Amino acid sequence: MTGPALPESCDFVVFGGTGDLALRKLLPALYQCALEGRLPTDTRVLGVSRAHLDDESYRALIHAALREHVGDLDDTAARALLSRLHHVALDAHDPADWHRLAGFLKDRRSYESTVRVYYLAVAPSLFGPICQQLDQAGLTDEPARVVLEKPIGHDLASAQAVNAVVGEVFEESQIFRIDHYLGKESVQNLLVTRFANTLLEPLWNSHWIDHVQITVAEKLGVGERVGYYDQAGAMRDMVQNHLMQLLCLVAMEPPIAVGTGTEDVRDEKLKVLHALKPLTPAEIDRDTVRGRYGAGLVDGERVPSYDDEIRSAKMGASLTETFVALKAEVQNWRWAGVPFYLRTGKRMDRLSSEIVIVFKPPPHDAFRGRAGVTSPNRLHIQVQPDAGMRMHLVAKEPGPGGYRMRPVSLDLNFAAAFDQRSPDAYERLLMDVIKGNPTLFMRRDEVEAAWAWCEPILRRWEESGLPPKRYAAGSSGPTTAITLIERDGRSWQEDEL
Ligand code: NAP
Repeated sequence: MTGPALPESCDFVVFGGTGDLALRKLLPALYQCALEGRLPTDTRVLGVSRAHLDDESYRALIHAALREHVGDLDDTAARALLSRLHHVALDAHDPADWHRLAGFLKDRRSYESTVRVYYLAVAPSLFGPICQQLDQAGLTDEPARVVLEKPIGHDLASAQAVNAVVGEVFEESQIFRIDHYLGKESVQNLLVTRFANTLLEPLWNSHWIDHVQITVAEKLGVGERVGYYDQAGAMRDMVQNHLMQLLCLVAMEPPIAVGTGTEDVRDEKLKVLHALKPLTPAEIDRDTVRGRYGAGLVDGERVPSYDDEIRSAKMGASLTETFVALKAEVQNWRWAGVPFYLRTGKRMDRLSSEIVIVFKPPPHDAFRGRAGVTSPNRLHIQVQPDAGMRMHLVAKEPGPGGYRMRPVSLDLNFAAAFDQRSPDAYERLLMDVIKGNPTLFMRRDEVEAAWAWCEPILRRWEESGLPPKRYAAGSSGPTTAITLIERDGRSWQEDEL
């Protein structure tokens, strides 16, 4: 079985075509796809913003962005992409401007069969107005598709409102909610590791696995995103989407098919979200930790505290968290009693996204505790910075002196194993949208189920009025996050790839 086919023609419309996301991620990803001959032959790319740019000035802007954000730019390929690039100036709120966009899109021979992708790289408050204007301009029929960037809502009600307003205009099959984590090679490789091998799956359950850890740590602070971030915080910005998606991929049952454009993977992920045990207020107090970075040293450089950053941005005081750790439980046959520890933070001591599967110790100690250092088997799945995997086993140290044992790791560094460029997540995801393959996008019910689980936690934090715990920038988070796991007789696995 193969996935959906590449269409012959495509109009790729980027609303917010002059914004940071478009310049840093979307256009560079389209360039890579064009360079490798993956785009439909008859493709036009259209940037939309309120700026009064003609095609030539827009091309100059994008050319500069490609030079800045693509390493080793092939200028001939860049110019070939630029020749397909156009700009339409319109204000999403002003109906008067939309005829120009409609005129441009309908002015082609194959309009009916051309895939139209509307990528909404704009503030979520514009999702509704843009969808409604597209509808009024008669531009929403199949094969039109709309791509929504996070955040989808601020809580369950606002996510439902966004989904409703977009759903009034587009069928669910036309809506692609992007979570760029799902486009990462190592995340897709998790599906392959689990479901294209026989070795791990028999062990992938509560009989053999003691617990699971999922960490997404960043060294960066909030920087210029402080305005957005202070309204969101780590729970909304990272846990509700990226970490819960990773949890779903670890915990899901084997789907009927992967990568064929069917709903199987999304159906299985949804079951995991439904199986998450809702946390009671007492469990929220005990099993969740929120933190906020103070000043500190990151890579030897002194960085300001979050409080200083919001003061510099002339914003009022807030209780927004930049760190979350929590313990979750998937209540089903496979995972009963296996804790999932999730952790994410900014200004941490390292940049690392990883999943650690910690297996149970052997049921019997044949070496009678005299064998040196042993530790439970662990599978580390490194999502970034370097995609890879390593399995920690216990081995005998060579030489005489009886059974002296030490943990050793079997490493699989994908970059070294395959010796080829690892594409950016957006490249994969943009091609999936063009082909109409929804597997790696979040369905409406998934987004809402994730919010339904997170919302009581957010509400409890808000009601408590307690400030987040402090941690020094450049550390591994508040000490209470260490207590959270050590209380259960376990510890965070911090080793490097
Ligand atoms: P940005 O740099 O502020 O860009 C916003 C874009 O929207 C600009 O091109 C702007 O151009 C256009 N725009 C604003 N108001 C408009 C209107 N009324 N009509 C038409 N166009 C309008 O924002 P961004 O960082 O690219 O982020 C865009 C969205 O993606 C946000 O929802 C953000 O949360 C999300 N996101 C961004 C990133 C990232 O890395 N940047 C990552 C994940 C998610 P004009 O002002 O000229 O109209």
